[in-house]
Amino acid sequence: MSRLLELSGLSAAYGGVRALDGLDLHVDEGEFVVLLGPNGSGKTTTMKCVSGLLKPVAGRITFDGRDLAKVPGWKRPAIGLGHVPEGRQIFPDHTVMENLTLGAFPVRRKRAETERRREEMLELFPRLGERSTQLAGTLSGGEAQMLAVARALMGDPRLLMLDEPSLGLAPLKVIELFGYLKRLHEERGLTILLVEQQASTALRLADRGYVLDHGRVGLEGSAAELRDDPRVQAAYLGQL
Ligand code: ATP
Repeated sequence: MSRLLELSGLSAAYGGVRALDGLDLHVDEGEFVVLLGPNGSGKTTTMKCVSGLLKPVAGRITFDGRDLAKVPGWKRPAIGLGHVPEGRQIFPDHTVMENLTLGAFPVRRKRAETERRREEMLELFPRLGERSTQLAGTLSGGEAQMLAVARALMGDPRLLMLDEPSLGLAPLKVIELFGYLKRLHEERGLTILLVEQQASTALRLADRGYVLDHGRVGLEGSAAELRDDPRVQAAYLGQL
């Protein structure tokens, strides 16, 4: 498997507050990797550095062998980096269809190709199909999260990064959403980097994982190794 994303010695800070402190991690092509860790351990910050929302103070990020320091954040979706940030961030005053079309914008596709892809998304997420002309702001939490994922997929990403997509969703909706992620990974070979608080669910889906601790990697291993690790079990007691 070839290395798609590699973070080495990554450090980041907000003003004087250090959020990442020499983080090393990687995601290979076709992998499903989960980032776990307590609140404030740096999971969101890691994703922000990869998508370009935050500039690291030290270290290096490469994507498909390319140094991301040379690629501005706004260009990163066009090279295959899809990001579903925390809190979804869909356009509430636009319809479901319009939100999907906007998702294709960074890759500047031909209109027919965008339309084809949009139809594919509405088939993949039938509930969005039923609500295609509805304003996104009127969707339920689960539907809005699906729209956020579908919108990111419109850009045909090589890596899909999701920051706590389960947040605020009812348990059944979480199962439904994760079912989609699993299918995208298994049937389409999509490479996924997922930040998730629900450790046991995430470790059931993922191939591999990292547990962050104060801006560094505390533990890493296959999903099975992490599930069996007493330190992970202690940290997420009652969940595993
Ligand atoms: P959570 O699970 O709570 O979202 P996290 O693992 O995603 O946590 P980060 O959000 O990456 O953690 O935060 C890492 C550190 O950076 C924390 O100490 C946090 O307080 C700090 N931090 C995050 N965002 C900011 C900000 N905008 N300004 C100042 N400090 C911040």
